[in-house]
Amino acid sequence: MAVIDQVEVHHLAVPQPHPIRSSYGSALDVLGVVVVHVRDTDGRVGEGWTYVIGGGAESVASFLRTELVPLVVGADPARVRDLWQRMFMHALSRGRKGVAMYALSAVDIAVWDLRARTAEQPLHAHLGSVATSVPVYGDGCWVSMTHDELRAAAQSYVDRDFWGVKLKVGADLDDAVRRVEVVRDVVGPSGRVMIDANQRYDLLTTRRFDAAIRDLDVTWLEEPILADSLHDYARLRGTVGVPIAAGENEYSRYGFRELLEHEAVDVLQPDVHRVGGVTELMRILALADTWNVPVAPHTSWELHSQLACCGTTALVVEYYEWLPEDFFAVRPQIVDGSVLVSDVVGTGTSIDPASLERYRVGS
Ligand SMILES: [Mg+2]
Repeated sequence: MAVIDQVEVHHLAVPQPHPIRSSYGSALDVLGVVVVHVRDTDGRVGEGWTYVIGGGAESVASFLRTELVPLVVGADPARVRDLWQRMFMHALSRGRKGVAMYALSAVDIAVWDLRARTAEQPLHAHLGSVATSVPVYGDGCWVSMTHDELRAAAQSYVDRDFWGVKLKVGADLDDAVRRVEVVRDVVGPSGRVMIDANQRYDLLTTRRFDAAIRDLDVTWLEEPILADSLHDYARLRGTVGVPIAAGENEYSRYGFRELLEHEAVDVLQPDVHRVGGVTELMRILALADTWNVPVAPHTSWELHSQLACCGTTALVVEYYEWLPEDFFAVRPQIVDGSVLVSDVVGTGTSIDPASLERYRVGS
């Protein structure tokens, strides 16, 4: 029986090619990435990673090195759910959400990659997939863009036959509505438009915004209010015209159980790099299946395409190039608006070793 005997943690900082601003106006100039390599006693290596938008990757790397690595060394990859449970319980008093779950997620993804490599299967097949491709929609229409830039970004997705286009909106409702109109104009009357408010509004503002966009046929409005305001989400959903999406700031199956029990969202948006890795994302897919709620995972289309292919209510994955194309040595292809999951063993995505050196923070 091969067990994990080495764990490496790499902390990277990847500059963004274009200066962008969040819905709050803060700069998003660098993406923090934390990569985990687990090596077993047969010499096989699994790779997992997480990313942090807006700072904090150093804390994730530190938590990994000091709290989780000692639990991973000696673990049997075949018993990945046991390892997950031990990591989760170890971190319970200071984990459950945030930094600890980012760290746990990176480990869990690495162990699943190792398991699939050991089985000589692509991860989606190892997990038992129900599809071999998944549609992709385009994100990246930032509030810091001019209307011309917004139009060009949306057009680039239309030209690639993407499932739809999502734009960010900020505090200025008039500006937000004009931006939605610009994207609607680009995609045409039959195209899909999604809106992401990144928790920028309150209940009353969301109701006003909903009334203003009612004729623009919006597929979903994402995170209009604070992610923790589950009762407000439940009050919004069904009383506004636009479907509500959320979940990128929720953690573990317990968080998603709350979203579902409150009937708070029309579309679930888990992120494998935050919720607790592959182990937990599969549980969330099963919950979504049980409640018959569509799933549109948050970012990371490369890895989420593998996992979405295992979910019967998985709808679409989100495309945005947070990482340059040469960051990866291997990743899936997008053809005719869908990600094709490959026959490559493991997650189907490998970070180029040169990227580890190019973007490394510290020694
Ligand atoms: Mg979002």
